[in-house]
This record gives sequence, structure tokens and C-alpha cells, in this order.
Amino acid sequence: MFRKILVANRGEIALRVIRACRDLGIEVAVVYSEADRGAPYLELADQAICIGPPIATESYLKVTRIIAAAEVAGAQAIHPGYGFLSENSKFAEQCRESGIEFIGPPVEAMDKLGNKDKAKAVAKAAKVPTVPGSDGLITSDAEAMKFAKAVGYPVLIKAAAGGGGRGMRVVREESGLSAAISSAKSEAEGAFKDGSVFMEKYLDRPRHVEVQLLGDKHGNVVHLYERDCSLQRRHQKLVEESPSPNLPAKVREKMCEAAVRLAKQAGYYSAGTCEFLVDQENNFYFIEVNARIQVEHPVTELVTGVDLIREQIRIAAGEKLKLTQKDIVQRGHAIEVRINAEDPAHDFRPSAGTITTWRPPGGPGVRLDSHVVAGYKVPPNYDSMVAKLLVHQPTRAEAFAVMRRALREFKVEGIKTTIPIHQTIFDTPEFIEGKIDTTFIERVLMPPKKS
Ligand code: ADP
Repeated sequence: MFRKILVANRGEIALRVIRACRDLGIEVAVVYSEADRGAPYLELADQAICIGPPIATESYLKVTRIIAAAEVAGAQAIHPGYGFLSENSKFAEQCRESGIEFIGPPVEAMDKLGNKDKAKAVAKAAKVPTVPGSDGLITSDAEAMKFAKAVGYPVLIKAAAGGGGRGMRVVREESGLSAAISSAKSEAEGAFKDGSVFMEKYLDRPRHVEVQLLGDKHGNVVHLYERDCSLQRRHQKLVEESPSPNLPAKVREKMCEAAVRLAKQAGYYSAGTCEFLVDQENNFYFIEVNARIQVEHPVTELVTGVDLIREQIRIAAGEKLKLTQKDIVQRGHAIEVRINAEDPAHDFRPSAGTITTWRPPGGPGVRLDSHVVAGYKVPPNYDSMVAKLLVHQPTRAEAFAVMRRALREFKVEGIKTTIPIHQTIFDTPEFIEGKIDTTFIERVLMPPKKS
């Protein structure tokens, strides 16, 4: 096992990894940028190392500084968390070359799955259904028109390197196709330095259901069932739950098996997620793999009782998975809501600043993953998430009741947060009945204003 690990991330996920290291009796160092200097979670590590200015390209994304920090700390492994360098295979390669273990999948699997169009090819080879579309990248408008005609409008233009909902455009008719392609390309070029795009049929009100996977370096892969992440705003997840409501058992089983097949096909190990869309007839289609730990991983930890970060660390150290598929069961119902420093009353605009009051919820069935305390100043430079509030109960109805109670207890002053919109969501009848899809938030809660 490793003696010391470096955490190459910030905020709640840095704290989550620090906690896992403590639980395993491993020393832990954490990096920070000048914007995070003095953040309370840094004190919970054995060592904190400043790696540069607030701008991420000069700190959290700066490979040479992070490797140097690992060397200074004497760490044998780096945990990248999510975002930043977590899906960067060049970074993983650099770690390998520096004799440092990257706590994540093998470089080869990252390369195979890192691009959405390449990942779809792997899925097809593993006989996993994919959304119909262009087989590969779009090279010309004329070709795009042909594909769109073949699958039928509406279609979705997607960035191959995409993430966080960027580089995506819905096209409802041929006249809008060319403009959508060029705007998706330029957004992708700006965000990912890669303007390549492909096309998919735009499914009508699908659900987003994803399967959590764990694989070791000895060829064992298990799934830890699914999370439903259909509640999204602008293709960004807001609420996640497990099990997925109203998903037939047979579909769940087939989807989980498909995810395991895909991981084996790619030679995958570590934690990973296979994302699917499920249409109104319960057909499922692979969309992408997230080759890293995800924000919503605690939902699965609650229903399965498996600590995914500890497992990632053990796997990276070369240990065999102790879990077999039959050991893993879904117990009860877990839900997570993302508490972001945003103002839902004003189009979710970011709300950075100092938190004057922070009264977190607690009590039976509640888990709060957060790096925030009263007096904490939310820096404007990074992701706006300040907490993940989770509940776990025997049934979905009980989980809803506990979530309502927890949201009510949660008091935050000094900044605006997404707490009020979550209160509305948990009182909305369609959601209570599990009648959800990826358009739910915009369709039910924010219908376009009549002029
Ligand atoms: P990103 O990596 O940017 O998050 P994804 O490929 O994971 O992009 O898709 C994000 C969300 O976009 C999905 O959860 C879903 O809501 C929507 N989406 C993606 N592909 C389709 C599709 N073919 N049809 C309808 N909605 C889609």
C-alpha cells in the first residue's frame, strides 16, 4: 500500500480524498492555488503545497507543478479527483514516467474512451447499443445533412472532447444545421482545444441513467448498479438518485451487464461510470464513459455500502477486488442534491462571496460532503458547488421526507444558493411520482415566460 498520496484537486473532492486516506492510514498532501490559500479543509491534510496563482491553467491544470509537488511531498501516488486533470491521459502518462501511480484508469483505456466518438466505437464492439447518428466525426456540412436526414430531425451536434454540457447544439431543421455545427465547433475549440464534433439523434425526453463500475488490475470488473441523473439544467446534473425510479428490473440488469462488457472491452480498471440515455420505451443507449470518480459517487456509496475512493486507492496499489458481483446489493434509496453558489431566481448566475451563516443539516439518514464553514469565502475562479447533500432511507418516499427536512434545516447566508430550487423540486408531484426526464427542470419548473 502507498505510504503517502498527493491530492491534485480542491474543495469538497479534495476533502473527500483526504478523508479516505485517513481511513486507510495513509499520509496525505494536498495542493492549493493562491485563491484557496487558508481554506479550512487544507488543515486536515498532513501537508498543503501551493502550486500557483488562482487561474487553473497555472495551478490545478499545471502538470509540471503538480508532479513537482508530489516529489516534494514524497508521495507515491496522485489522486486527481474529478475535473481538472482527472481525464487527461497525458497527465497520467507523465505520472507514470515520473514513477508516480496515477489513481485512475490505465492510460490506454483513457485514450480509448476519452473521446465520445471513439468511446462509441468501443461500445459498438462490445455490442452495447448507442444512439444512432454519424458514425464518427463530421467532416463537412454536406455529410452532416446526409446523416441528419437518415436519422431524422431533431439532431444533436456534440463535441467529441465535450464535457459539462459544452459544445452541444440541438438542431430542429436543416436550415439551422450549418450554423449549429460551426458554433459547436468554436465552443469546443475554446473549451477543449479540440473542435471535432459528431452527430446524434436528439432523443425525445429521455432519462439519464448511469452505471457505476469498479475494475481491478487483474481483469475483474463489477458494477454497483445505477444512478438516475435526469434532473438537469442545461445538461448539468442537479439531483441524482439510486435506484432509478420506475426502471424495470430487466432493463437495469441488461444495462449493468452492458456497462461491464464495455469496461472489459476497453481494458478498464479503477472507478468509472458508463452513461446511458433511456427512452420512453425503456430502450437504453450508451452515450459516454466518465473515466474517473464522479461528483455523484456518494449516492452509490450509500445504497451499496462500498467506499469508492478507498476502492480506487486499493486498486491503484495493485490489490485484487474483494467484492464479487453477488456481494453488491442496492439497499434502500439514496438521493443527492448539489448545493451551488448560484442564484436560481436570477438565471442561476454565480454568487461568489463570503458565507456569513452556515448551518448544515444533520440527523438520521443525512450525509453532507462539503469543504465549507461559516466565514468561508467562495472564490469566483472555480466550480460553484459548495456542498453535496445526501439522504439515505429504506424507501424513496422516506428519502424525500428526510430531504425536505434537511433542506429546511440548511441555512446559508451571505451568498445565494440552489437550496430554494431544490425545495421546489422535492414538492413537485411529477418528481414525487418519478415521472422524470432530462427536460423536467426546464419544462416543469421553468417554462418559458409568455411575452
Ligand atoms: P457532457 O459530457 O457534456 O456532460 P453528455 O454526452 O454526458 O455530455 O450529455 C449530457 C446530457 O445531454 C445528457 O445527460 C442528456 O441530458 C443530454 N443528451 C446527450 N445526448 C443526447 C441525445 N442524443 N438526445 C437527447 N439528449 C441528449
